[in-house]
Amino acid sequence: MKEENGASVFAPEKTQDYGEDPKAVRQSDKYVSEYVRGFVNKWDELIDWDARAKSEGRFFIDVLKARDKKSVLDVATGTGFHSIQLLKAGFDVTSADGSAEMLAMAFDNAKDNDLMLKTVHADWRWLNKDVHGKFDAIICLGNSFTHLHEEKDRRRALAEFYAALKHDGILILDQRNYDKILGGNDASKHKYYYCGDQVSAEPDYVDDTLARFKYSFPDGSEYFLNMFPLRKDYTRGLLRDVGFQQIHSYGDFQAEGEESDPDFFVHVAEKS
Ligand code: SAM
Repeated sequence: MKEENGASVFAPEKTQDYGEDPKAVRQSDKYVSEYVRGFVNKWDELIDWDARAKSEGRFFIDVLKARDKKSVLDVATGTGFHSIQLLKAGFDVTSADGSAEMLAMAFDNAKDNDLMLKTVHADWRWLNKDVHGKFDAIICLGNSFTHLHEEKDRRRALAEFYAALKHDGILILDQRNYDKILGGNDASKHKYYYCGDQVSAEPDYVDDTLARFKYSFPDGSEYFLNMFPLRKDYTRGLLRDVGFQQIHSYGDFQAEGEESDPDFFVHVAEKS
């Protein structure tokens, strides 16, 4: 284990390790060791990128094009899905992530698509130490922001995103509909299937400051992610506090009010 800016950076283990009390694991640094190679490989093998592209449609491309945005920083690259989609659509994309494991996978995925990713290994909380220049847009997608467990980290990360944007830049950040999950009704037991019925994700445990999800794969293997359950209005408030002037929140890619009970929200926050 090495220390970087006071945060522990763990080399990814082969298996996930939440210690004796998994529900007590509520640290923003944990994400690096949650994405063990076995989990990431399996995820990418089973989630059909074409199906995912189909379900999202042109939503992100249209949001960016409508505002004439060209340079995009993907701060949660993961295995590269959105970076690659946007590169194919002609955007100038820089791909960042705090997990070196993820970036390596994204780079290989891009190569398989005859594309070259510009990658930067960077944690959001000190993003501008490693990412230079200002961008038209930042994307933080795939329910990634929920990895930050402490409010000071959420505020710090958003301030870093804000600073990395041009004066009229936009941030596109998505999240699960945690209001629904925290509601404690049947919805809290709802299983989400990712692009087909191969991978399911369901809340294993939920309280006001932890949503522990279980991911089940066809071979019987299970992995977990410990997330912070972001309420929609809380996220909007944080975006406003950091200085974004306009925030549009879409439910399952529909404009406000059009989808009453969405699984996901996408916030589009405009600096000016
Ligand atoms: N956007 C991708 C997608 O939709 O497939 C990946 C989503 S994955 C759920 C979350 C990603 O956020 C992981 O690649 C993880 O390493 C990254 N991440 C989480 N917390 C981070 C942090 N503090 N700084 C940088 N990256 C972080």
